[in-house]
Amino acid sequence: MDCLFCRIVRGELPASIVFEDEEIVAFEDINPQAPVHLLVIPRKHVPTLNDLTPEEDALVGRLHRVAAELARARGVEETGYRVVLNCNAGAGQTVFHIHLHLLGGRDLQWPPG
Ligand code: AMP
Ligand code: ZN
Repeated sequence: MDCLFCRIVRGELPASIVFEDEEIVAFEDINPQAPVHLLVIPRKHVPTLNDLTPEEDALVGRLHRVAAELARARGVEETGYRVVLNCNAGAGQTVFHIHLHLLGGRDLQWPPG
C-alpha cells in the first residue's frame, strides 16, 4: 500500500516510535502542535473514520486505551489531554490512514479551530 503511515508501519520510513504491538503503532508527530503530540495508528490500513466496519470495533477501542496509556506515560493524564481524529479534508485530514492525535502538555482551547 502506497500510504505514508503504512510505510512507517512496515519500517520503510523512519519514525520516532514510542509504542508498538501486533495491531497498533504510536510515534511522535513530525510537526508537533503541543509539547506532547503523538499519533496512534492501527497497522491495518483504514483510510478514514467513514471506512470502519464492525470488524474494527475492538481495534478502535484499543487505539483509545493505548492513547490513554501513553498520556499517563507522558505525565498528562491528570492535567488533561485531547484525542483527535480528523475525518476528511475539511476537518484537516492529510494522511488517509486513520490515526488518533494525542495532544497535551499545554492548555488546549475549545472549540478547536
Ligand atoms: P491529519 O492532518 O489529521 O491527517 O494528521 C496527519 C499528521 O501526520 C500531521 O499532524 C503531520 O504532522 C503528521 N505527519 C506527517 N508525516 C509524518 C511523518 N513522516 N512522521 C510523523 N508524523 C507525520
Ligand atoms: Zn495506510
